[in-house]
Amino acid sequence: MVAAVLVAAGMTVMQAPAASAAAACSVQWTTNQWSTGFTAEVQVTNGGAPVTSWTLSWTFAGDQRVTNAWNATVTQSGKAVSAASVGWNGSLATGASARFGFQGTFSGANATPSEFSFNGVSCSGSGTPTSPTPTPTTPAPTTPTPTPTVTTSPPPQQGCASAAICDGFETQTGATPGGAWAVSTPDCSGAGTAAIDRTVAHSGSTSLRINGAAGYCNHVFAGTPLPAGPVWHVRYWVRHTTALPASHVTTVAMRDSADGNRDLRFGGQNGALQFNRASDDATLPEQSPAGVAQSAPLPVNTWNCVEFKVDGRDGTIETWLNGTSVPGLRNDGVPTHDVDGQWLNRTWRPALTDLRLGWESYGEGADTLWYDDVAVSSQRNGC
Ligand code: CA
Repeated sequence: MVAAVLVAAGMTVMQAPAASAAAACSVQWTTNQWSTGFTAEVQVTNGGAPVTSWTLSWTFAGDQRVTNAWNATVTQSGKAVSAASVGWNGSLATGASARFGFQGTFSGANATPSEFSFNGVSCSGSGTPTSPTPTPTTPAPTTPTPTPTVTTSPPPQQGCASAAICDGFETQTGATPGGAWAVSTPDCSGAGTAAIDRTVAHSGSTSLRINGAAGYCNHVFAGTPLPAGPVWHVRYWVRHTTALPASHVTTVAMRDSADGNRDLRFGGQNGALQFNRASDDATLPEQSPAGVAQSAPLPVNTWNCVEFKVDGRDGTIETWLNGTSVPGLRNDGVPTHDVDGQWLNRTWRPALTDLRLGWESYGEGADTLWYDDVAVSSQRNGC
């Protein structure tokens, strides 16, 4: 059987090896690369008996280095790489597939590995695969071992059914954001890209991926209209790969019709999260060391729940990171030195009209980000 594979520009796809009934596995390997880096999306199909966990191994021909991975635990020693299943995608019936991905660096050529093994059995031969990883013999436990609840595919956990916006990108059908979402690159466009990613997700199987590059003209956003206020509670999950830089970056932009259609921006500076008002460049918190210390970095390589409230009646803001209110990202209307003193230099009653998720860098600072499970309503959405 030959899988039907969509080949998009800039991508290479191969299926290796030619699947035979007795092969331990077949692998579909899709890369998306730029000058020194790449992402690989790997689909492995179990050609043998059912397994409850799996490890796919290969050897790179070149100097490829895996820098981070998703939906598998990937380890590398020299050119040898092993990708082990994670809890929810370990069980594979005969003929069933799992997908994982990783990001890496390389120089020269980025050849697709030609040989794979699945639970230690070569996928190119016709050997009988072993399954699954042997379970060590251990004495019976003195207390019962809890039976984990296993789902083969995590259900959507958006938790926002009554919200005005409740979108986990599961209904997206194309390679780029469509439907309620539109890609925009205000003023100029360059290397930044916005894509629908079906290998990384906070829930379900799909997310919005932003490849953000340094420099203003490499900005890119995927946006959707906001409901009428006057209070907006925005919640989204974000995963990113690179710590926030020292220079100013924006990850979320919201057009403010009460402020000359200039953006209210949420992003980072000096390594920590911040709000920025484009019309007067005020920041929340102030960028003094004491102000920055009251904000928080955005952890990398994990899903983070970001929530913020913007109140158009009094201009107050509150922000929660992974469920905890961040003092430096709170404007309560009473000037607090190092936090909102600068913000309150001007009366501000926002009227937000859109929500754009993406990346905008005003200096150095590049990042790859995934957004998922976006909720907007008039009350706090929770994580
Ligand atoms: Ca999703």
